Amino acid sequence: MTHERARPLSAAAFERARRVLPGGVNSPVRAYGAVGGAPRFIAEGHGAWVRDLDGNEYVDLVGQWGPALLGHAHPAVVEAVQGAAARGLGFGAPTVAETELAEQIIARVPAVERVRFVSTGTEATMTAVRLARAATGRDLIVKFAGCYHGHVDSLLAAAGSGVATLGLPDSAGVSPAVTASTVVLPYNDSAAVARTFTEFGDRIAAVITEAAPANMGVVPPAPGFNRLLRDLTDRHGSMLILDEVLTGFRVSPGGWWGLEGLDEGWRPDLFTYGKVIGGGLPLAAIAGNASVLDLLAPAGPVYQAGTLSGNPLATAAGLATLRAADADAYARVRRAADHVARAVGDALSGAGVAHSIQRAGSLLSVAFRRAPVRDYDDARDQDLWRYPAFFHAMADAGVLLPPSGLEAWFLSAAHDDVALGRIAAALPGAARAAADA
Ligand code: PMP
Repeated sequence: MTHERARPLSAAAFERARRVLPGGVNSPVRAYGAVGGAPRFIAEGHGAWVRDLDGNEYVDLVGQWGPALLGHAHPAVVEAVQGAAARGLGFGAPTVAETELAEQIIARVPAVERVRFVSTGTEATMTAVRLARAATGRDLIVKFAGCYHGHVDSLLAAAGSGVATLGLPDSAGVSPAVTASTVVLPYNDSAAVARTFTEFGDRIAAVITEAAPANMGVVPPAPGFNRLLRDLTDRHGSMLILDEVLTGFRVSPGGWWGLEGLDEGWRPDLFTYGKVIGGGLPLAAIAGNASVLDLLAPAGPVYQAGTLSGNPLATAAGLATLRAADADAYARVRRAADHVARAVGDALSGAGVAHSIQRAGSLLSVAFRRAPVRDYDDARDQDLWRYPAFFHAMADAGVLLPPSGLEAWFLSAAHDDVALGRIAAALPGAARAAADA
């Protein structure tokens, strides 16, 4: 509990928050349930660094859970948001910036013809599922265990292992009738997907998949897996929804699809985006072919709307972020991820801790097991109990990791040699703490 004594202001802020916010937070993992102790309340962040209420400074590897591709408070993004705010916070009427942001996305992802902006990734996947059902006139949605697509009722489904299982709710309050039309399969299991299409093919509206999963730690798609999903959905008249909320505009200028589908010549019917495209403000999107997107009201019969959709501050932040995210920025993110991956591997090997460095492009996480993680069963079959000791030792040495061992570590273009040096210095002690846990 030494970490709590060093942070009296955060501890007091958490006590106060718990009296008025469920669990003291507005998104569960922030509460440190998986690592213990009171969460650090953050006062401010600049570049790769954040400072907590007690004045402790950390190199940040949470990265706002993805949006902070350029680091915190990037000057161009802050300036764009301030300029937009001075002109008005929102009008409930179209603005040109929405068109400009859609044009930027289309320029980066040639598979996209239309974009509908919403405020969160959850709204994006919810709408994508609705569109797929409308376009196909079918009901079933296939998803993969361990893939997270936001807190959409029908996508909060878990399943037994192995075979195709009709989904059971993963959360209280979700009706079994809703998840009964969700089929949950093990990730990277081509045979299970093929069997499911053989059995239910003509009832499947869509397969939804994270382009490269990063919500059970990072799990790279096996070579050809995404392409197989495209082939099977095509063959059976189903849609492929590629969820790039986390990977979009982070792993490359064109997201994960820009690394894979562009070269291989396949495209999904629908993309979902979020995080980086809002530059840190609430903005997300559904994108894809005109023939599908134009089913949305008012062009078509699928209802979807939002008071805050295309908000001027969010579109300004997104535009400024994409404009600053040039080839050099992507190279810096990649270099930082490579550097941290090497350093953490060396430190854990040095301390004799079994581990697998999980990578997908510039995405990175660490699993406490020897064999690579291929699916959710693998992700849970690791020495996760080592993570709290590792996390707290890193934090005590000035590096803030995600407060859960099943999350990705987010690098940014602002993680320079000074920040990387701090991480490298913290790792050997944290690796020993993990070994002794
Ligand atoms: N899809 C993916 C792949 C995500 O990682 C997330 C959020 N972590 C979501 C959807 C949901 O986005 P939001 O939290 O903005 O609702």
